[in-house]
Amino acid sequence: MKQRLLFLGPPGAGKGTQASLLCKSQDLRHLSTGDLLRSEVSAGSELGKEAEAVMNRGELVSDSLVLAIVKTQLKALKNQGWLLDGFPRNVAQAKAIDPLLQELSQPIEAVVLLELDDSVLIERMLLRGRADDNKSVILNRLEVYREQTAPLIRHYENLNLLVSVKAQGSVETVASRVKEVLN
Ligand code: AMP
Repeated sequence: MKQRLLFLGPPGAGKGTQASLLCKSQDLRHLSTGDLLRSEVSAGSELGKEAEAVMNRGELVSDSLVLAIVKTQLKALKNQGWLLDGFPRNVAQAKAIDPLLQELSQPIEAVVLLELDDSVLIERMLLRGRADDNKSVILNRLEVYREQTAPLIRHYENLNLLVSVKAQGSVETVASRVKEVLN
């Protein structure tokens, strides 16, 4: 199975859940920028303080801050495969991480797009109850996804890396679809 992956898709599509499962079963490092940022926020670090208000509005944290986090994580990995979940969030981040991946001789092998209707996304996020999961912030995050993140679909399609998975149904059903497209 492929060893260096990106998970792409709207907020609420189940990227985090599916990424955790796959990483456990394939022994990949799960690099979720959302999780990494949330731990900075709860630790009360300078970085966390800078990110918190932006996250609570459902907007994107600055590229430079996120890139610094991702680069540190990737450099620390030796021969283990990885799954980037929630990164890149825009084309600038995708382009900025490429030189490092080239330098490390670790190109992305596949980009998994999780697809789900907006109505289901909103329902799922409201059930999750995270600090940034109230209705108006959710709508803002969907808007940010459409404007800034969705152009990555075309970007990775052009690079022949994109595989799409329907994200409705049970966790197990989606997990087996994900494995199928990566084999
Ligand atoms: P997530 O857990 O992926 O939904 O991310 C939660 C929040 O963290 C997002 O709404 C952003 O504010 C921030 N965030 C996560 N990943 C990134 C990224 N790659 N670039 C910018 N902001 C991010």
